[in-house]
Order: sequence, then structure tokens, then C-alpha cells
Amino acid sequence: MMLGPILLALMSFLFTVCSACPPSNYTYAFTTNITTNSTNALAPRFYGVPNQRGDTVYVGPWPITAFDPTTGIQEASVYYCYVGAWAVGNMPSIFGEVFSKWEPATSQSALRFVPDPYCNGILECECSETNSRPDTLRIYKADQGASSSARVGYQYNPKRAFTQVLRINMDNYNFADPASRAKIIFEATHELGHVVGLGHEHQRPDRDNDIIFQCYNLDGYMEARAKVLWAIRYPDSAEMKIPECPRVEQIDACMTNVVCMDLEYAEHFFPPAAQYVHGDSYWEHLTWETKGDHADFRSIMIYSSYRASKFNTGFPGGAVLIGKDSNGGTFEIFEGDSVDPKDAHLSQGDIEAVMRLYPKTIVKISGSGGW
Ligand SMILES: [Zn+2]
Repeated sequence: MMLGPILLALMSFLFTVCSACPPSNYTYAFTTNITTNSTNALAPRFYGVPNQRGDTVYVGPWPITAFDPTTGIQEASVYYCYVGAWAVGNMPSIFGEVFSKWEPATSQSALRFVPDPYCNGILECECSETNSRPDTLRIYKADQGASSSARVGYQYNPKRAFTQVLRINMDNYNFADPASRAKIIFEATHELGHVVGLGHEHQRPDRDNDIIFQCYNLDGYMEARAKVLWAIRYPDSAEMKIPECPRVEQIDACMTNVVCMDLEYAEHFFPPAAQYVHGDSYWEHLTWETKGDHADFRSIMIYSSYRASKFNTGFPGGAVLIGKDSNGGTFEIFEGDSVDPKDAHLSQGDIEAVMRLYPKTIVKISGSGGW
């Protein structure tokens, strides 16, 4: 009696799996309820830097810092230090918890977070202009009013030292308030994802299959719309013209389809929207990799539905991002898979993305030995 529905479900499952065939060099697991820890059933999704940093590609994973040829076990250390006395005094305890949040990924990959070697293992490691490695990750408290930000992946240029940076906004941070602390840890956990090379899941080039982006719910939309309207009406006096939008009556379509979809327009007219544009307009000079059929809704690298929203009238009212399920339904997205930032965590997809960028061991391919 139940066989019909089960068969139908199974068929739709098989169809879903087979309708987009993955490249042959990766083995994929199905996205929902991943139970495997195996390194040969790697991430069903991935969005981030290429997993090899080639000669012409200026960004990639952090390099291998230790390798044991007998076991094939390797480590890739993100060396870090804190900039300035305030950061050294206050941020290590926060980052201790951030690194713990990353432990499920570091324990299964080559990735490590290690104080700059000149600090000899001291966790309160202050950056030094003279002694720090030139490619060490410099962790700052962001300037007042500046958002948290991080350089994505390893982008070290030998001609320019100290370019790997991570800034955390600590405005309004209250040491006595556990919720405030949890929020900072949550934010730093996300930014560290950028440091290791991960992009935003909601900026995947194929995100529209899984996510509805409602730009008009972003805080500041009406002000941006007014600026765009001015630019359409008086193109000769506008700092940036929008040739795609010749007519004032089409202002709303112009916002939705042009300004909120294009990095340069978004940055000029409506900077918050730049965090939501398709990633392929972001890194034109780089080849980012997008793997898998779906965005990872549980990722620490996806924005919550109401982040940066102007209104929250109860889901889906006012949501900036809406998840779409395979049955035509919708759901609210929570960055790190938790309503409460305190409980936010890496998803299995995040862990597997790290395992893919930082494999724990190099396994020699059989048959390639020198017989
Ligand atoms: Zn981010």
C-alpha cells in the first residue's frame, strides 16, 4: 500500500541525483542528511576559491606547511596574529571559541589555525612588522562603523607583505553580555570561512534555482531607488549612467533586474546589495569553483533571511532571502543553521568544502610508483 509513494519518492530522488551529472573527478553524496565522513564522498556543494593555486591564479587555499612523505599526512597552517594592544588583550579569547567552532573541519582536514611562528605558540600573539611572516593573517578590530570583512582565500603576493587581513566589527560589543559575545563569535566564524577560501552560498551563480532574493526588502532600498531614479532622469549629471534603464517608469524593474544584480551598479547606488549579487560578476578575473546542484542552506556562509532586512513582519514578510524547497514550498534561512547565533555551526557541507580544499593526506595513485 505504501509502495507507490515510496517508489515515486525514490524515482524523484534518482532523477534529482542524475539530472545534473557531476564531473567525473569528484564523487558526490546527495545533499540532504549527509551522514558520511568519508573523504571520497566529498562535498555535494562547493563555492569558493579554486583548490589549486596555479601560477596564473592569484588566489587559492592556504599552502601546505608540513608534509610527512611516509604517511602522506599534511598540514596547511593559517598563521595568524592580532594587530595592536587592544586586539591582543581582547580578541584571543573570542577567537579561541571561533577556532573551536571550526574544529569539526580542522580535525578532518589539513587546515590548522596557528599563531605566527615567531610567537612560539603563545595564543596572544601580537603582529610584528619585523618578525611576523609576511603572509600571516592579521586580525584587527574593525574601525568604528566599518563592517567585518576578510580577504578570501590565500592571496599572498611576495611583493606586498601583510595583505592577509581579517577585520571584526566590535562596535557595541558588550563584554558582560553573553549574547553580544555570541554574536561576535558567530560573525568571526563566518569571516574565517572567507579566510580559508569559501564564498557566500547565496552568491553562487546558480543560486536562483534555490533562493529567492528580494532586494526591495534590504534596508536602504528606497534611498537607493531615489538615487537611481535621479540617474535615469538626469543621466548627463549622474556620476554613473545606467544605459540598461532608459525609462523612469521602469524604475522598479531596473532596481530588481539591473542595480541589484550587477556588482558595479550595486556598489555605486546600493552597497548593501553588493553582498547579494551573483558571485560570477564579482571575481571576473578569477575562476571560482561552483560544485554541486544546490546551495547549502545550513552553511555558515549563507546569509539569514532577515540579515540586512528593513522589515520583519514574520516569515516570509520582509525577507531578503527565501529558501525554495523541491516541492514548491519556501522556508526561512538561518546562517549557520541556527536561530540563535550562539548555536550556529559549520554545516556538513562547510566541513566537506574544507576537506576538499585541504585534504588531510596526499594519497599516492596506485600504479604510478617507480617499478
Ligand atoms: Zn561573508
